[in-house]
Amino acid sequence: MKILLITEQHDAQWNRVSFETLAAAQAIAKQASDQKDSSVSAVVIGKGVAALADELAGYQLDEVSLVEHDLLEKYTPDGFSIALRQVIEGAKPDLVLLPHTYQVRDFAPKLAASIQKGLIGDCIGYRHENGKLVFVRQMFQGRTAADVVFTDAAPWMATFQAGAFRADLAAKNASGRAPVKPVSVEIKPEQIRTKPLERFREAKQAVDLTQAPILVSIGRGIKAPENIPMAEKLAKMLGGELCASRPICDEGWLPMDRQIGSSGQTVAPKLYLALGISGAIQHVVGMKAARTVAAINKDQNAPIFEVADYGIVGDLFEIVPALIEALEQSK
Ligand SMILES: Cc1cc2nc3c(=O)[nH]c(=O)nc-3n(C[C@H](O)[C@H](O)[C@H](O)COP(=O)(O)OP(=O)(O)OC[C@H]3O[C@@H](n4cnc5c(N)ncnc54)[C@H](O)[C@@H]3O)c2cc1C
Repeated sequence: MKILLITEQHDAQWNRVSFETLAAAQAIAKQASDQKDSSVSAVVIGKGVAALADELAGYQLDEVSLVEHDLLEKYTPDGFSIALRQVIEGAKPDLVLLPHTYQVRDFAPKLAASIQKGLIGDCIGYRHENGKLVFVRQMFQGRTAADVVFTDAAPWMATFQAGAFRADLAAKNASGRAPVKPVSVEIKPEQIRTKPLERFREAKQAVDLTQAPILVSIGRGIKAPENIPMAEKLAKMLGGELCASRPICDEGWLPMDRQIGSSGQTVAPKLYLALGISGAIQHVVGMKAARTVAAINKDQNAPIFEVADYGIVGDLFEIVPALIEALEQSK
């Protein structure tokens, strides 16, 4: 199987999910039935990114394609999909893999449509089965996982969710370096229909949740901002900090720097108490390293229970006041 990995960088800084997808690409190639004919090549796209291509050449790859163009300096969906279509048509891979980032979600469907191929997005795993590559993706907020296969001819395109693979397992090349091949692409200014403005930057972190030994984390199950003081009280009584899943921060009920997950903070406290959090993979990657996870959720099938050491199936509005009362009595 010939795999082409499309990496992501911004201002010549890696998006580290690229290396998670590299680890996935290497593992898929290693386990493919035509393992001997398998190869993994990577693409670095942008402008002024030759140093990144050189860094990537130190990994176990067959080739690194360096795609640079003035019109690729700033990301645009038109520029990236026009350039990458030419790269794919030239490289003729069986499988194109991308990290499931905001940027990839923006251009990958357009790229897939331009080569008239399907795209399996947001995968969390894969397996080789009867000579076919089966992708696994979550559905219904992680309540169930679906197996998805391509039925048409290669090239196939798939994206892997952040946290699905370990970047530190991306294999380096012990004995040499992959060749870096500059690939020229044709893009005309009139083909770019959007004008990129300043990139959105995450809010600066005011609290360092990584240092808190106990975290009480609230999810959409908390229902309304008026209910947050109850969770805050519990956090204080336990000597911990309050944090949240993303929807709570998106709503502005808690500041962004209290968000846990793939686009928030990654924490490893002694105790992580999840209140009304479903346990979507993007949340779990940020807290699964906690020494003890306790979860309260009224849905017994909520995926959070898969990572919980202690689980209470029940209504947090009954259980949290009871916990507070018990803590008050034990003072
Ligand atoms: C690119 C990308 C990045 C993302 N990054 C993050 C991230 O960094 N962090 C993050 O958290 N999410 C992130 N998400 C969102 C993520 O996919 C989920 O949508 C989100 O984590 C769900 O939050 P939740 O569990 O609070 O809400 P829901 O999924 O709505 O779950 C609410 C839970 O509360 C339970 N509940 C309801 N009422 C009660 C009650 N009275 N008592 C007890 N339980 C109750 C329900 O059973 C349910 O399980 C990201 C998504 C994408 C696409």
